[in-house]
Amino acid sequence: MSILSIDQLQLAGKKVFIRVDFNTPMKDGKVSDDTRIRAALPTIKSAVEKKAKVILASHLGRPDGKANKKYSLEPVGARLAELLGCDIKMADDCVGDGVRLLVSSLKEKEILLLENLRFHPEEEENEDNFCKALAALCNVYISDAFGTAHRAHASTAGMVKYVQEKAAGYLMQKELKFLGGVLKNPERPLVTILGGAKVSDKIAVVENLARKSDTLLIGGAMAYTLLRAKGVAVGTSKVESEKLQMAQNLLERLKSTDAKVILPIDHIVAPNPDAISEVMTTSGETIPDGMMGLDIGPRTQTSFCDVIKKAKMVFWNGPLGMFEKPAFSAGTYKIANAMIASGAVTVVGGGDSAAAVEKAGIASKFSHVSTGGGASLEFMEGRELPGVKALE
Ligand code: AMP
Repeated sequence: MSILSIDQLQLAGKKVFIRVDFNTPMKDGKVSDDTRIRAALPTIKSAVEKKAKVILASHLGRPDGKANKKYSLEPVGARLAELLGCDIKMADDCVGDGVRLLVSSLKEKEILLLENLRFHPEEEENEDNFCKALAALCNVYISDAFGTAHRAHASTAGMVKYVQEKAAGYLMQKELKFLGGVLKNPERPLVTILGGAKVSDKIAVVENLARKSDTLLIGGAMAYTLLRAKGVAVGTSKVESEKLQMAQNLLERLKSTDAKVILPIDHIVAPNPDAISEVMTTSGETIPDGMMGLDIGPRTQTSFCDVIKKAKMVFWNGPLGMFEKPAFSAGTYKIANAMIASGAVTVVGGGDSAAAVEKAGIASKFSHVSTGGGASLEFMEGRELPGVKALE
């Protein structure tokens, strides 16, 4: 089933509810990273240009269903006003008489930001009357909140059936185009790089992508559980020891896919992440007793980069080492730069890998960096996201 684009709807004079993901990091009562706000600007600007009466709604943090000043969207409204160079009206709630009044007095091209949806437990419960109350505020529903699309909440899924018209905003469309492109009709060769802490979090992603990819490169701590399951000594590396059987079964199943699965052949190790003066490189895949694998080694870096060079499409999720510490960040940044240099379509899953490329200031060099951590993983598992299904 297809999903309409915001461009296909007539918005002039209509009350347009845009579910955005303004769940931004805050510090001292201010937005400390406005990436998510900036990501929603094209959709908001387009609605304003089309003379809509714009209603923006989001959650922020985990206020546990209670109004709490700490989680107010007010600082987000202030940052949005700066970015757009116009006034943003703030509601002190997301439903109720006061909000209805504000909406009914809203003029074309004006923007109203509702207060945190999660001040009401009914949001996460997807409670029907709450869905109806949100839907009653508008004539059109637009979703630009890919980051919460894996949640079946009132504002992401439940309310949509009560609104006359619905469509995807530009950010949602971009996420579906690139992440969907990897799964549906990838350019070949398709190379997938997976890293991160736990293989148990990513089994379904590994399996689904192994079915789609030509080559699967695995690094990060998750590689140690897999190496251990193969019988390789990995010292004191972060291993999910209770998941070894599961890892063995996974490796067995991967044999029946077409993808070539490549694990690290050497490692950067240390007795612990703080023992910087004792960092060394192993000669092979084995890690000595008392040492921890904290990054992929130079030979692995080179072999991964060689594979990436020949790719036409690359999907990457999860750091290849403990990238937060400079001594163990080389693997992560080498593969990031190899992706950029490859000329391939490059897609970065959300979460830590997105944070790594943002931190290095290279995010704009990828074809797409997903704004959704959990959502992008669930999508890549091949699961239907409630917030996407609602738009169909
Ligand atoms: P995830 O949230 O599963 O993507 O995992 C990201 C985290 O995995 C980051 O905080 C990394 O520091 C951590 N990580 C990656 N590789 C290693 C490693 N070899 N040892 C310990 N932690 C790692």
